[in-house]
Amino acid sequence: MKVRKIALEEAFTFDAFREETAAIRSRFNPAWARYVGERIEDLGDRRIADMDAAGIDVQVLSLTSPGIQGMEDPRAAVATAARANDLLAGAVRAHPTRFAGFAALPCQDPRAAVAELERAVKQLGFKGALVNGHTRGAYLDEQRFWCIWEAAEALDVPIYVHPTDPVSPWACCQGYPIGGVPWGWAFETGSHALRVILAGVFDRFPKATMILGHMGEFLPFSLVRLDDRMDFVVARTGLEHAPSHYVRRNVLVTTSGVHDPAALRCTLDVLGSERVLFAVDYPYQRNEDAARFIESVDLSERDRALVCHGNAERVLRLRAD
Ligand code: MN
Repeated sequence: MKVRKIALEEAFTFDAFREETAAIRSRFNPAWARYVGERIEDLGDRRIADMDAAGIDVQVLSLTSPGIQGMEDPRAAVATAARANDLLAGAVRAHPTRFAGFAALPCQDPRAAVAELERAVKQLGFKGALVNGHTRGAYLDEQRFWCIWEAAEALDVPIYVHPTDPVSPWACCQGYPIGGVPWGWAFETGSHALRVILAGVFDRFPKATMILGHMGEFLPFSLVRLDDRMDFVVARTGLEHAPSHYVRRNVLVTTSGVHDPAALRCTLDVLGSERVLFAVDYPYQRNEDAARFIESVDLSERDRALVCHGNAERVLRLRAD
């Protein structure tokens, strides 16, 4: 029996970023660059045909990386985020049973980001926000961004922290293509999540929720060592709990781009089946590969239903069909 599938990390872009995203794609393997290039701006028939072909029922869409986070001018970031969110809202209105939205946020101006999040959730019906990692080197642990966590908690919507390139390349990755998507992105993004945890954001906003993709950006595998050795090096973090407590309480993880039964088992063991959610990472990953993985991997039917749709329906308050 086909399982209803709601996918949470599904990318689009639009004319404001057309050249930038094409330049990024030019670094990819050419066949993949073409596949992505033909799909990433489509918010209608082509996307839905690809979903239908693989049995994806709903995409929760977001502006692709780096998007707003890469912009230099705060006023331009505010205006462009609003355009991106309006464009996505139009697609959701046209296909309300197939699409939902995560807002782009102009973190360059934290108060404007809060206003845009409130507008996106209350007026456009968005389900949360997706931030493409650091905003020109600024991470979401900084005090000036706590108003965004405060607003997300008050609105009861999650903030998805998506990977991006590091501020400067790591020496340990130089000379090999591992600094970005295949490896470095997970360390970059897992570290971003730890910064937010260690800053005390979730002591202050205990009901705030962060979503991480890619089976948790290395965190589920590392929690025991993290707690143990954090204690070893600092004795006290100043937090109310060990770091793992916040990962289990405030973080949700998606399966985007990791079609690996062992990684899924680890993530489920650590977080529990109510905190792991399906995602594809379309069009950077193929819908059919993600669908085949989640439908065939060894899971109880209860857990499969939670991961594929039940958790998303609960957390994002999506209609259950
Ligand atoms: Mn992605």
